[in-house]
Amino acid sequence: MPKTYMVGNWKMNQGLHELNEFFIQIDKADLPQGNFWIAPQMIHIHKLLEKTNINSLKVGAQNCSDQESGAYTGEVSAKNLAEMGAQFVILGHSERRSLFKEDDQFINRKVKQALRNKLIPILCVGETLEQREAGKTLETVLGQVEACLDGIRPTSADQLILAYEPVWAIGTGKTASPEQADEVHSEIRKKLDQLFPDTGKEISILYGGSVKPSNIKDLLSQKNVNGGLVGGASLKASDFIELCKATK
Ligand code: PEP
Repeated sequence: MPKTYMVGNWKMNQGLHELNEFFIQIDKADLPQGNFWIAPQMIHIHKLLEKTNINSLKVGAQNCSDQESGAYTGEVSAKNLAEMGAQFVILGHSERRSLFKEDDQFINRKVKQALRNKLIPILCVGETLEQREAGKTLETVLGQVEACLDGIRPTSADQLILAYEPVWAIGTGKTASPEQADEVHSEIRKKLDQLFPDTGKEISILYGGSVKPSNIKDLLSQKNVNGGLVGGASLKASDFIELCKATK
């Protein structure tokens, strides 16, 4: 069985004050054991590591360089993120694809960097509203999976996580119905199984796109939905705590 995860993507939010307030509530919350992860802004990874060693949360990054090291001003290497204590990295998020023009080949190099440095990539894929309306959802999503994972061969299912995030559902309040999500997740599952006959069945596939406490149970009830990648609702400790508890 793939593992279940709840991952918060804080994006460019949560300054030190909000971060401290968030953990006052987390520390009181008596979270169950589970795979509960948070990706803060990179400058706060150290701070979060101090906070999370007293509970079961793990900390990761929202991006990394596609290069090992060198003259790449402003970039952050997977190697140094791992050295700092980050355990995972979100790659291929639709905001990076659309705002920073990242394409599948570039993302593929980042996935390779992450794996080489023992960071778990959470590879995001998803279609725009135009692609869905043109009947191109599966072609788009499966094309992204194949291209971003080109040349990659995980030796264990824990080394890689996929996240299906329909672009039209991110930050819009519109969630894919549980059935719409599962339809795409089951096709991603088939593709993973085809690409990685040894590990594909066990790789977790998260859903992302306006996940909140009111819809998480229905989403998690779907066979191929193995957790959530959550933006907005992960900023509020009480919501994130509810989402984590829903995985149990
Ligand atoms: C995301 O950014 O990955 C995301 C799913 O955002 P939201 O939950 O706010 O839709």
